[in-house]
Amino acid sequence: MSERAAPFYCPYCGDEDLRPSPEGHGAWECGACNRAFRLAFIGLLAAGLRRDDTGEDGAR
Ligand SMILES: [Zn+2]
Repeated sequence: MSERAAPFYCPYCGDEDLRPSPEGHGAWECGACNRAFRLAFIGLLAAGLRRDDTGEDGAR
């Protein structure tokens, strides 16, 4: 299980200047807005994966 998932953009200001935070596991700091935040895995969705097989775009 990968615990190293990294955010690409700050969820608050959208900047890419993110670095791991010394606050600990899953914590990141944004150099643009000086916010620190934490990413956490909550769980799998009960509904499972959704597929759109309807093919309504007329590709065939
Ligand atoms: Zn930010």
